[in-house]
Amino acid sequence: MKIAILPGDGIGPEIVAQALKVLDVLRRDGLPIETEQAPIGGAGYDAAGDPLPEATLSLARAADAVLLGAVGGPQYDSLDRPLRPERGLLRIRKELNLFANLRPALLYPELASASTLKPDVVAGLDLMIVRELTGDVYFGQPRGIEVRDGERVGFNTMIYSESEIRRVARVAFDIAMKRGKRLCSVEKANVLECSELWREVVIEVARDYPEVELSHMYVDNAAMQLVRNPKQFDVIVTGNLFGDILSDEASMLSGSIGMLPSASLDANNKGLYEPIHGSAPDIAGRDLANPLATILSLAMMFKYTFNDPATADRIENAVKTVIAQGYRTGDIWTEGCRRVSCSQMGDAVVAAM
Ligand code: NAD
Repeated sequence: MKIAILPGDGIGPEIVAQALKVLDVLRRDGLPIETEQAPIGGAGYDAAGDPLPEATLSLARAADAVLLGAVGGPQYDSLDRPLRPERGLLRIRKELNLFANLRPALLYPELASASTLKPDVVAGLDLMIVRELTGDVYFGQPRGIEVRDGERVGFNTMIYSESEIRRVARVAFDIAMKRGKRLCSVEKANVLECSELWREVVIEVARDYPEVELSHMYVDNAAMQLVRNPKQFDVIVTGNLFGDILSDEASMLSGSIGMLPSASLDANNKGLYEPIHGSAPDIAGRDLANPLATILSLAMMFKYTFNDPATADRIENAVKTVIAQGYRTGDIWTEGCRRVSCSQMGDAVVAAM
């Protein structure tokens, strides 16, 4: 189990240090885990003048899985675009061909009051959004801004090939098989040809998964249903643009950005695992960050890359235990709970394991 560790910037090194404590426990208990660290983002720029240094990319290529903290910071905002930290992240996803982005939205009952929605709407929420990550209008050609008939026009191309739709649909069906066996495909087939093809191909793929109940929903309705009755969903599969928006909406259902992991997978289930939040420069270096999203990203790694659901469950159960014991970092703290630092939260998870 070769894991490339890319802490990145801001709170990245602090939260990744807690995940490393978890890996130490697993290694001590016999798992053949090897880790190696490399800089990415602003740290990559500082070390090698590149947000994705060649050595970091080689390490990531050679690894079975990558754990990433977060990238970015105000000190890098004035750099030329290709040198900015976020560019390192986009490039590593593209270079490793990570086309399927998995974003669970899960709400622990004890944290239901952190959501802006009524507790009964979100308590017990457990859904997974599978977003296509390397195609669609974000990458389609032609694109640009030019002058036509004396005025400027901006244009992009929404485009998906059958093979791109098929491979992400397969990932989503496979995940649905491991969960509640219900998949909702989200598009805008009433208006867009690209979505029409999306729907046709998803229906074709469904023939190989007779046990999965497939439904279709237009994206405008899906945006509404996610806040009206989010518990109706098990797995959602959608394109890059719609998935970008819906996955952020879904993450807010659970209230805390510090709790949510993510995975981006290639065709062989090699993956890059990272919390959904950024580098939080406002609290960086002060041992205040919530490391649970990063630790839960490790759980996803064991589930999807290493095919070891028992270890994934062990990590997830340890997180559930510390929440039930009342440990809270500042972002999820409420009256009556035990306020802990980032490193104390990491220690609590290790103790629970
Ligand atoms: P952010 O997610 O870093 O922070 C938003 C708010 O949430 C802040 O108040 C922050 O303190 C809080 N927060 C985030 N993670 C937390 C955690 N683990 N524990 C406690 N509180 C947490 O988003 P932002 O402020 O918009 O961006 C800051 C930097 O991060 C920017 O440079 C941005 O480009 C970058 N960014 C990186 C990624 C990534 O690496 N994947 C994602 C988003 C933003």
